[in-house]
Amino acid sequence: MAIASETQPQDKTSSEVSAVEKRRWTLNDFDIGKPLGRGKFGHVYLAREKRSNHIVALKVLFKSQLQQSQVEHQLRREVEIQSHLRHPNILSLYGYFYDQKRVYLILEYAAKGEVYKELQKCKYFSERRAATYVASLARALIYCHGKHVIHRDIKPENLLIGAQSELKIADFGWSVHTFNRRRTMCGTLDYLPPEMVESVEHDASVDIWSLGILCYEFLYGVPPFEAKEHSDTYRRIVQVDLKFPPKPIVSSAAKDLIAQMLVKDSSQRLPLHKLLEQPWIVQNAEPSGVYKV
Ligand code: ATP
Ligand code: MG
Repeated sequence: MAIASETQPQDKTSSEVSAVEKRRWTLNDFDIGKPLGRGKFGHVYLAREKRSNHIVALKVLFKSQLQQSQVEHQLRREVEIQSHLRHPNILSLYGYFYDQKRVYLILEYAAKGEVYKELQKCKYFSERRAATYVASLARALIYCHGKHVIHRDIKPENLLIGAQSELKIADFGWSVHTFNRRRTMCGTLDYLPPEMVESVEHDASVDIWSLGILCYEFLYGVPPFEAKEHSDTYRRIVQVDLKFPPKPIVSSAAKDLIAQMLVKDSSQRLPLHKLLEQPWIVQNAEPSGVYKV
């Protein structure tokens, strides 16, 4: 796998990490600690890089399983995209290495675990907590979209919480680099008609929709279009059958904001930079971007 600028971490501001730069990693470079979780294709362990003592999460994927499910291509893209993103609300990928059987991803460790579990524990979040998370996500997505990266899979399972309680987007398995895709498809951007250039923006608006769904789920504890049957969920999404139950009590400013994101016509969804200026966000989101429980 000749991808992602060799295997070095790129965060020049982190002294611990830069101390181990310009190295090819092997399993011997790490002390392996407790398991952190289990994914579809392998396990994630707490690990310490021996020379720097830097704590990381090591994601171990089995090549055989990746091949069986034909997701090697997807993994390559995930690694390539995630290793080039540097943002406080995006889980960093410092590097990768592999042996005969496995692929190892060296990930930033998110000490406080999954947002999904927090949400299960609390049932639903307060408006301050929801707004803080939504603002953090909007900033991270603005950064991604600026680099022509669309995440496409924003949901509580893919959000982790860092040691400082900051939200971290993980799992770029479904993300796409629109610029790259376009270049490989069409050779050069110069000849593209306006509607295709514009569709970069157009595509990015899928993340605004997902953020609207997430905001609803944070505040109500369930996603808005949930239904027993798959076909009913599908119908409710297509019709944007958005309903706000009486309980838990949610302010009309929050409901307003959700309705502005969950708009069928993707060009009419509230742009992320405008979302950050909305009174509900300004009044509720912690200015530090950190919600301490
Ligand atoms: P799936 O596709 O089933 O979600 P996956 O292959 O994407 O699996 P992950 O979701 O990345 O696997 O990891 C599995 C679990 O390990 C996570 O749900 C989380 O609890 C834990 N985990 C993963 N990465 C980290 C990390 N960087 N820091 C802390 N915990 C992590
Ligand atoms: Mg996952």
